[in-house]
Amino acid sequence: MGEAYFQKALETMPRRELEAIQLKGLKKTVRTVYDKVPFYRKKLKDLNIHPDDINSLDDLRRLPFTVKDDLRSNYPFGLSAVPLNEVAEIHASSGTTGTPTLGLYTLQDLDQWGDMMARCLVMSGMTKNDVFQITPTLGMFTGGFGFFYGARKVGATIVPASAGFTKRQIQYMLDFGTTMIAAIVSYLLRIAEVAAEMGVDLAKDTKVRKGIVGSEMWTPEMGKRICQIYNMDLYDIYGLTELCGPGVGNDCRIHDGVHLWEDHFIVEVIDPKTGEQLGPEEKGELVFTTIQKQAAPLLRYRTRDLSFLYDSLVCECGRTHRRMARIQGRVDDMIKVSGVNFWPSQVESVLMKQPEVGTEYLITITRRGSADHMIIKVEAKNKIGEDEAKKLAAKLSNELREVLIFTPEVIVVGPGELPRVEVGKAKRVVDERT
Ligand SMILES: [Zn+2]
Repeated sequence: MGEAYFQKALETMPRRELEAIQLKGLKKTVRTVYDKVPFYRKKLKDLNIHPDDINSLDDLRRLPFTVKDDLRSNYPFGLSAVPLNEVAEIHASSGTTGTPTLGLYTLQDLDQWGDMMARCLVMSGMTKNDVFQITPTLGMFTGGFGFFYGARKVGATIVPASAGFTKRQIQYMLDFGTTMIAAIVSYLLRIAEVAAEMGVDLAKDTKVRKGIVGSEMWTPEMGKRICQIYNMDLYDIYGLTELCGPGVGNDCRIHDGVHLWEDHFIVEVIDPKTGEQLGPEEKGELVFTTIQKQAAPLLRYRTRDLSFLYDSLVCECGRTHRRMARIQGRVDDMIKVSGVNFWPSQVESVLMKQPEVGTEYLITITRRGSADHMIIKVEAKNKIGEDEAKKLAAKLSNELREVLIFTPEVIVVGPGELPRVEVGKAKRVVDERT
């Protein structure tokens, strides 16, 4: 059996044809926002750009950026290019850091979102024989519905469990023979804990062998842990509410980078400080321009996510869409402690390499006098004595020092002692300095 695709012709399309689609889509999108969205019309006029000036993909770099604050200040419908009666669905980000950002969809947008999701699911091994349990919320958040629309197109048996009620989730897995699960990484860890309490061995007692996860940052080391607990293969899906939700890209069975759907988006990487375009293999901020969306097209949307694009345009899976490296962190998640910049993922990588360490940790940054102080609390995998805990803490502190340059205080606690989040993303960093 060869490689499976949902839309083979589009997924393996020669680059020349893909770029032709991109140019056509870019021209159309610039024309649409110029005609229909006063915000963009003003921005383009200020830069002296007329839609007729867009003649090549290189012209992209002349276009203005869009940032999250633009979406907020135009909340709710200021960036919409269609009248409200053509908007078929409204989704929203959680808005934990202010006004939520919206995902607006026409019927055609929903259909295309479903196609992209279906491509991602098939890329993650889904067939119509799968029983697919969706644990992200089926509500305002884009996650649940994205998986739902995609799985519908593939023809799998859908279990729309939505978030929470973890014991019931596990019962569904057992009763319905769930073979594939969609989740955020921290929820897969939560399920694993509750399963252990219920005496359920996820690897032996369930049929879950494929997982598709997104939304939260996770390190390969954490992924490896989860694959062992469930005895499954884990796939990384990328997306954000502003673009369409999940389904912007996915990693294939080779697990070397995330293919981005370039017939729907033009992706760039820029220097977050200067805004200059960077080349392949150069790390910076991901920027997307939508080229098919009707309801809320976006020009050069700055995601705040940091990654780089692969130089190679060839992948063993046969797909021709460009790959990016796994997200290394968000610009906003970068922490500065004692003058040193780092990402929580760097801490996670070190912790998860230690077999004695469990999967829960919490980073707290405080001030001691005038100096920054970092405390990392981490759970031991099994019950642990006081001396052993101290020894393990010293070892971890030493290894973290190699990565962070400064020495953090490490406290090893027993299993189950750190707080858990029942629904939503795990809170791994508390900054008490502000
Ligand atoms: Zn591939």
